[in-house]
Amino acid sequence: MWKVNERGEKVFRGGKEDGAGAAQAADKCPNFKLDVEDEIVADELRSCYNCRYRRWTAESFACYKPE
Ligand code: SF4
Repeated sequence: MWKVNERGEKVFRGGKEDGAGAAQAADKCPNFKLDVEDEIVADELRSCYNCRYRRWTAESFACYKPE
């Protein structure tokens, strides 16, 4: 579900259109935090796509959750 890119960022393999995968990832993640309303993009609220720790990249997003 994740890969580490050349900058050491943890990048979601599903890209920007894998709503089910992003929801599944957030479901398993204890660090999920819902972003502000303007940044909500997925219908399923508990989704990495709606998490304040995701940073959009050209093709997907990276997870910037604090360790
Ligand atoms: S983006 Fe949010 S919900 Fe998804 S893995 Fe990172 S911290 Fe967890």
